[in-house]
Amino acid sequence: MTMETVTITEATQELQNEIALRCRLSPQTTMQIGPFGFIELEESWGDETTILNTARISTSNRRINSVTDMTQRDHDLLYHLLKHNHGTPFETVYCRWRVIAPIFVLRQWMRHRMGTFNEFSQRYRMPITACYRPDEAARTVDGWPVLTDEQLCRQDALLAQLHRFYQDEYAVACQRIEEAEQNGEIQADEGGRNRYRGRARELLRNIMPVATYSDIYWTVNFRSLMNFLMLRRKSDAQYEMRQYADAVWQLFRQRLPILSQVMERVLQEGPQQVL
Ligand SMILES: Cc1cc2nc3c(=O)[nH]c(=O)nc-3n(C[C@H](O)[C@H](O)[C@H](O)COP(=O)(O)OP(=O)(O)OC[C@H]3O[C@@H](n4cnc5c(N)ncnc54)[C@H](O)[C@@H]3O)c2cc1C
Repeated sequence: MTMETVTITEATQELQNEIALRCRLSPQTTMQIGPFGFIELEESWGDETTILNTARISTSNRRINSVTDMTQRDHDLLYHLLKHNHGTPFETVYCRWRVIAPIFVLRQWMRHRMGTFNEFSQRYRMPITACYRPDEAARTVDGWPVLTDEQLCRQDALLAQLHRFYQDEYAVACQRIEEAEQNGEIQADEGGRNRYRGRARELLRNIMPVATYSDIYWTVNFRSLMNFLMLRRKSDAQYEMRQYADAVWQLFRQRLPILSQVMERVLQEGPQQVL
């Protein structure tokens, strides 16, 4: 059995369409990761001048409005602040990211507490029927395949079976709910959501594997983003997590190149704890 035998849910189809649309409309701020993974730097607030202006509250009235006004002194100050762990000015620059990733990746992501998350709900919607499948690079170590094609096929079959189980049992639950509503055994909710179906989805989601994709918004300031990048782009971070962290870095670097260069320089100079 393959994932093709699973009925694609409405949420899956909508996300597939949206990924294609966003990549077409905004190629500079989006990236696809594998067949279903996606990341977009949707919005950012503040830039290098925000950091400099807020830092200068303690020393002068000099303020600048644009990065094009930055002098060598401004560049030096930006470096000095980051190098010497003056952390709070770096909390004034924010980014909002849209991320579609397997739950096991998002579970690691959400350990980063200095940020805000909003996530797709399997309470209100049926699960996304896309599951993570490791590509060639993901399933080899030094060129040696840790999982064979046959093993991956068996894994695909198991994942498909779980999604089929969910869909079949949800259909049974919905049928029973409908019959009970019709014969007056239970009251259909008026106007709002059907709480019986909602409860069925809440219970059935318990069997969904962490390979299932989910969809989040992540709003984070630069200080925390830098901590995330330092930890999740390192070679000891999990391969799939690193793929997303590298994508975050690439998109962020395009948005704020000066700050990114300073960050790279400070990190290369290591090994002191930054921020
Ligand atoms: C390679 C790797 C392997 C990992 N393996 C495991 C594992 O096996 N098991 C596991 O549970 N986790 C694991 N983690 C997660 C790790 O322990 C951190 O929870 C995660 O990386 C988030 O980092 P953070 O706390 O610095 O980030 P954030 O939560 O965003 O916090 C940012 C910073 O704020 C400060 N801060 C936040 N909360 C507090 C607090 N309560 N008290 C004091 N200071 C605070 C700290 O300075 C912190 O660095 C792993 C992480 C990596 C990168």
